[in-house]
Amino acid sequence: MKEYRVKPGAKVQLKDWSTQPPQKDEAFKEETKRRSAKLGLKLAELQELLWAEHKHRVLVLLQGLDTAGKDSTIRHVFSPINPQGLRVQSFKAPTAPELAHDYLWRVHAQAPANGEIAIFNRSHYEDVLVVRVRGLQPEKVWRRRYRQIADFERLLVEEGTLVLKFFLHIDKDEQKKRLEQRLLEKRKQWKWDPADQRDRGFWDQYAQAYEEALERTGTDEAPWHIVPADKKWWRDYVVSETLVSALEGLAMQYPQSKADLSKIQIV
Ligand code: ADP
Repeated sequence: MKEYRVKPGAKVQLKDWSTQPPQKDEAFKEETKRRSAKLGLKLAELQELLWAEHKHRVLVLLQGLDTAGKDSTIRHVFSPINPQGLRVQSFKAPTAPELAHDYLWRVHAQAPANGEIAIFNRSHYEDVLVVRVRGLQPEKVWRRRYRQIADFERLLVEEGTLVLKFFLHIDKDEQKKRLEQRLLEKRKQWKWDPADQRDRGFWDQYAQAYEEALERTGTDEAPWHIVPADKKWWRDYVVSETLVSALEGLAMQYPQSKADLSKIQIV
């Protein structure tokens, strides 16, 4: 999965990053789905270990344009996990109390605790994306945020948080198809939001804002992954595989019991 990882300091041009799986034939798709199912079981085991060890914290951050599949990735990748070990946090437009603080205030409060996996559905990156594209803050304010965000994430990492960031990358035509489905399918119509249509008109500006965010905050300690997300089965596999191998890298161990178990008799 290294090929999807943004190299620190490298220039990012989204048009050079694929939105498609490496192969699309049925056999490859079925094999990928089988692998994802196995990874799901592995992830569930690793989560138990994470909780038992209670030493590391895990932050999984998902960003992407409307319809990129943030919700569906969460549903698919994390469904095998015990819900007690997970917390999903969605970041919407800030409320009045949130706006009365610095933009990282609400984010830091939701960072994972020891043994916990926190999933951010959108995040502080909105503060250099929608805020930049819609001109919600002057350039001098959002521009310094790249540095602030990199510093903030370094703090989380140095204090024991594994930070994994995923940009779900879809093609503009794929978004058109998904928005059309939203209009046509009865079960999806509730999701229709006029803001999606408006944001689609700013596709290029969002791409540029994402490119700069990926370039300036893709660090060794908190790497970005650009996930080809036109096909859900490949998107889910890439996220699962990246997550499992990062968790395995923590080399976690079940702790020893504090009691001398050999002396205990159940009567
Ligand atoms: P989603 O599209 O993620 O399923 P919503 O339809 O509720 O969920 O959208 C959340 C909205 O909140 C998005 O339009 C997003 O851009 C906006 N938002 C999130 N964070 C901020 C922020 N810091 N400033 C302004 N808008 C934000």
